[in-house]
Amino acid sequence: MSSPQQIAADTVVGIHYTLTLDSGAQVDSSVGGEPLLYLHGHGNIVPGLERQLEGHKAGDKVQAVVPAAEGYGESTGEPQAVHRREFPKDVQLYEGMPFRATNSAGEEVVLWIHAIRGAQIYVHTDHPLAGQTLHFDIDVVDVRDASEDEIEHGHVHGPHGAH
Ligand code: ZN
Repeated sequence: MSSPQQIAADTVVGIHYTLTLDSGAQVDSSVGGEPLLYLHGHGNIVPGLERQLEGHKAGDKVQAVVPAAEGYGESTGEPQAVHRREFPKDVQLYEGMPFRATNSAGEEVVLWIHAIRGAQIYVHTDHPLAGQTLHFDIDVVDVRDASEDEIEHGHVHGPHGAH
């Protein structure tokens, strides 16, 4: 029998994950649903988690603590309030929602809705989890070689993948 495959660049990895913050608040979890499938080594998950999963194999449990700089980035200031009427009427806004906007230099940027207080919508270029240390509880459920198509596209195909 060959030894189990290790997580490395150009492998497709299936994980169950639970993400909590320093406060203990749980942000997200795949437990109870389908595992997350991602193509390793292509920046599809936060860099600090990708790095800490390297070399693991199916069956491993990994507790990864990822500092903000290797997670969703450092925090760069306070969100700004924008009135609801500045947004399209027919779009349902929610906290944590990303959207594309054009800044004063004419560049396209991604903004995030951090909070909604009545007609005041608080938006920021920071990801809502910027500045947070991320605590990942990981169960590695599957590791396989990626196909050439997957490597070329930079993402996973097939069930639970793209397309
Ligand atoms: Zn594709």
